[in-house]
Amino acid sequence: MSASPFPVRTTTWACSICGADAPRAYRMGMYTIGDTRFNLVRCRDCSLVYVNPRPNEATLGAMYRDESDYANGYNLGVEDQNYFERKDELIALAGVAWERIEQETESQGRALELGSAGGFFLEAARCRGWDVAGVELSPHAVRYCKGEFDFPVFEGWLEDAPYEPDSFDLAIADNVLEHTTDPRGTLRQLRPLIKPGGHVLVIVPTYVNSAFFRLVNLTQRILPRKLLGPKLCSMLKIGDSDGGYPYHILEFNRANVIELVKSAGFEVLRVEGSLPRPAHLFKAKDLSRVNRLWKGIFVLLDHLMALRLAPAARIRLLAKRPVHST
Ligand SMILES: [Zn+2]
Repeated sequence: MSASPFPVRTTTWACSICGADAPRAYRMGMYTIGDTRFNLVRCRDCSLVYVNPRPNEATLGAMYRDESDYANGYNLGVEDQNYFERKDELIALAGVAWERIEQETESQGRALELGSAGGFFLEAARCRGWDVAGVELSPHAVRYCKGEFDFPVFEGWLEDAPYEPDSFDLAIADNVLEHTTDPRGTLRQLRPLIKPGGHVLVIVPTYVNSAFFRLVNLTQRILPRKLLGPKLCSMLKIGDSDGGYPYHILEFNRANVIELVKSAGFEVLRVEGSLPRPAHLFKAKDLSRVNRLWKGIFVLLDHLMALRLAPAARIRLLAKRPVHST
């Protein structure tokens, strides 16, 4: 273990969903910054899982200024390439996602992405005729985005961003709310920026707060790691390996996400579970027999999650700002 490149300070906090403040232990030593270890706890009332104590605001700021975020810490350490190297692939995948969004919302116009990263998702929308804008905390990602694409990105927090009320047809928070210290407050800031009747799309990981994870956690000493391979072990968070910086300070379940979006003043239209598909299984042409088996398992589980026959590893929620709201 090495020293942290910045000072690490922590703070304790209550549950972001229900406000209760007497959680039970869930997973010890999940993340580290330098010599400081971070544990997961679980709310006894609403089952939200969260990092507690968490890094304080200054330490969170330092984490996001650290360039290793996108270079090394990206996507659970599962992918072969870092985020920026996957530009073309991710823009193509985003195009498919936008096709669906347009069908669901029957809209096209102006879109805002919270946590716009390198801008791939927004670039795919721009190519389809959307007017787009992004908000991003990481200076590294903002620099990259401005160098590659021709649309505005605000570096900083949403509350400081220069947007007029009622100015977006759609807002997206894709893998963002689990990083925030006040997810309800973030959604409440977002709501007035969306036109009445406009939409918000929220996507959050839910694997760590699922029966799968609890089962893996309980049985990890007897799981055949050779068969799983290092990438799946990393994805399933098996073993004592360093989970890296605690970027995901919140781990929602399905009910938490619905409650959060409703309580921020949105009308929930659709909630869907799914499983993120590891690129190394779905891009490669020549898969080993074991990996072909894993690919089949991933596809099967993804379908079961969509049908709510298995606990989801990721929740996608579409909501709208009610027409008659302030
Ligand atoms: Zn709670």
